[in-house]
Amino acid sequence: MDRTRRLRRTENLRSMVRENHIRVDELIYPVFVIAGKDICKEVSSMPGINQYSLDRLHEELDRVVDAKIKSILLFGIPDHKDEVGSGAYDAHGIVPEAIRYIKSQDKYKDLVVVADVCLCEYTSHGHCGLIKGGEILNDETLPLLAKASVEYAKAGADIIAPSDMMDKRVGAIRKALDEAGYINTPIMSYSAKFASGYYGPFRDAAHSAPGFGDRKTYQMDPANGREAMREVEEDLKEGADLIIAKPAMAYSDIIRDIANNFNVPIVAYNVSGEYSMVKAAAAEGWIDEKKIVMENMISFKRAGAKMVITYHALDVAKWLKEDE
Ligand SMILES: [Zn+2]
Repeated sequence: MDRTRRLRRTENLRSMVRENHIRVDELIYPVFVIAGKDICKEVSSMPGINQYSLDRLHEELDRVVDAKIKSILLFGIPDHKDEVGSGAYDAHGIVPEAIRYIKSQDKYKDLVVVADVCLCEYTSHGHCGLIKGGEILNDETLPLLAKASVEYAKAGADIIAPSDMMDKRVGAIRKALDEAGYINTPIMSYSAKFASGYYGPFRDAAHSAPGFGDRKTYQMDPANGREAMREVEEDLKEGADLIIAKPAMAYSDIIRDIANNFNVPIVAYNVSGEYSMVKAAAAEGWIDEKKIVMENMISFKRAGAKMVITYHALDVAKWLKEDE
């Protein structure tokens, strides 16, 4: 008689047959660097997540390195915004300066620095592209994204991660990187990025809420799964090396579909709203934070993700170590 409970009898038996695991090397931790001095400011909607000025960034990086996390995803918050997002592609902007600092320090230089590329943190209107008459321009935005990518690669970024969702940007960035001599710099593309309500807290963290309208003309409709496959196919054709699915929790069917259809490492972005919901419920004592977070991590792996970008990364690393 078939009895599935036979293999659940003891912890050792359960661990022998366990199908999925999350390892510390698979975690990518988002880090927010803000222009200015002596700043360590908590994001009010994201308990435990802070913005750091460059002179205090070491506080966060020490925690990352001590937790044996291998990779960070870098976001910049400039002191000045304009119509064309010039802070994004300024050679002395906040992100290139932060990358140069990280790469100059023995303790941090081996971190895999993933540089997010977008205009929304740098534009006065908060949109991810240039604007004309209320419309977000596609092709006119591409050279600026390419320029930012080359500046970040030049500063020492290990991976370029365009999050803007303009059409053809992976190809434009690949070409610009190759022409500048960075043929070995991989592109981690936010391919399946949905116009989601789960990004709310991030916009507090990165000061990137759109000043008018929404992002529905460039980010994907949450109702569309097949269209996500088209986005991934196109990005791979244009030269993407890694594919991000974002958000992760409510979109694990998308992760699974990408895994079933494409031979490429998939990165699940466990986004700010997903993080804040867990933190809020845990603070109320309604859920067991560790159990819920670890269950979420495993669900991304089970769906088919290879890596996870998560604000919980420091805690996950700590819990993995405790359970060794
Ligand atoms: Zn953006």
